[in-house]
Amino acid sequence: QLFLPERVNAQGHDLSHAPVLARIAVDRDPHRARVWSVGPRIAVPVASLPDGHPVMNPARPGDLVGRVTPATPEAIAAALSAAAPWAVTADVRARTLTDAAAAFEDNAGEIMAILTREAGKTLPDAVAELREAVDFLRYYAARARLTPDAAPRGIWTCISPWNFPLAIFTGQIAAALAAGNAVLAKPAGQTPVIADLAVRLLHDAGVPPTALQCLPGDGAVGAALTSDARIAGVAFTGSTATARRIAQAMADHCAPGTPLIAETGGLNAMVVDSTALPEHAVRDIVNGAFRSAGQRCSALRCLFVQDDIADRLIVMLKGAMDTLTLGDPWALSTDIGPVIDAAARDAIDAHIARAGAAGRILHQVSIPGLGAFVAPTVIALDGIDQLETEVFGPVLHVVRFAARDLDAVIDAINATGYGLTFGLHTRIDDRVETMVNRIRCGNIYVNRDQIGAVVGTQPFGGEGLSGTGPKAGGPAYLPRFAMPAAAPVTA
Ligand code: GLU
Repeated sequence: QLFLPERVNAQGHDLSHAPVLARIAVDRDPHRARVWSVGPRIAVPVASLPDGHPVMNPARPGDLVGRVTPATPEAIAAALSAAAPWAVTADVRARTLTDAAAAFEDNAGEIMAILTREAGKTLPDAVAELREAVDFLRYYAARARLTPDAAPRGIWTCISPWNFPLAIFTGQIAAALAAGNAVLAKPAGQTPVIADLAVRLLHDAGVPPTALQCLPGDGAVGAALTSDARIAGVAFTGSTATARRIAQAMADHCAPGTPLIAETGGLNAMVVDSTALPEHAVRDIVNGAFRSAGQRCSALRCLFVQDDIADRLIVMLKGAMDTLTLGDPWALSTDIGPVIDAAARDAIDAHIARAGAAGRILHQVSIPGLGAFVAPTVIALDGIDQLETEVFGPVLHVVRFAARDLDAVIDAINATGYGLTFGLHTRIDDRVETMVNRIRCGNIYVNRDQIGAVVGTQPFGGEGLSGTGPKAGGPAYLPRFAMPAAAPVTA
């Protein structure tokens, strides 16, 4: 194993992640050729399960990461009957979740290996994701200690996405468990292997198998887990369309008032005005639009740049994009890995092809050939209203605006109906105040990029078509998983 001293570089940047990355690069190697086999992790065995489906590495055609046995209706029924809230004190729950956080850190090598191979995460993204998962465990544990008398609601269904297959999967579960509920977790179809490892580590730390069960599979599993009268709440992160279907299913089958926490998509904008520092703005645009191959719901989709500086800024943006390294996420030098699978690649490429046919492509980076890679692309638009849906990949749309039209820009952003993240680059204080007051969205970032909300300090979540709230990683999240406190009765 390789250990390097922790240090701060000449610019004062903390490089303490460098030894972590170096150690993990060694540590993950034994997992490079492993094939994991996963299936439902439920408290009671069921008679027969189908054969496993292959889980493939999106960056390397032919690399089999694992096999997943989907949950059958019989397995779902067994899990529902066995589910039992975690009836120990809040302090025991908090201690167990904190122990699980330590176990996640101890297993960093295997976690990195799975995140890079199964989800196509680059190593820096995988490190950040592990840290976020650990933060969620510790944060909700700490919050649970503050409300030791809160009563759990019962059985929660947690449905999570493939883009944060460890962090969001763990965050939902940690909150529901911290509040003392039972959890039925349905990981995304593309990323069951990392979910299975997370559940195993939580069980090993002491979460009872009746309090946490994992049911991998496709949308049919999610549909069954959101249309049963025994469900006391649903936490969902994914598309707005799926959130609507879940809300409908819950309205039809669950008790009135059963909570749904949905975190959905966005058409996230950034405004760069003529007072912005161009180098700074370009760095944040590249990060927001292309890091994680644009597969964050917080990612920048539509850049509004003031026409006075637009030509210069776009030249700089092209130069910055040309320095990006696309490739195998195993390589420490890779900046951008693949998208999640070939179907996602084809859908994003079809969007790019339509823009190409309309003569709207401003710039495109070349891709490394094999695997589910999408070329980072910049597309010119006349307005954000030309974007009907979120394009979940490394595609940036650019709209030019004149200074006198800033009000119309704000109205157009609000008129999308989405409201997740918004970025602003300006050096005019009044403008910051105006925009922050008028843009209707969950997370607003000024003079920085708009991704990577930090648990505990930057609660994350949107409004309108982007989600129901409460924000994940903030003080309002955990209480939604508990029964509302009884109001004091006064004469
Ligand atoms: N919390 C993440 C961020 O701020 C995004 C979560 C998501 O993509 O669902 O980048």
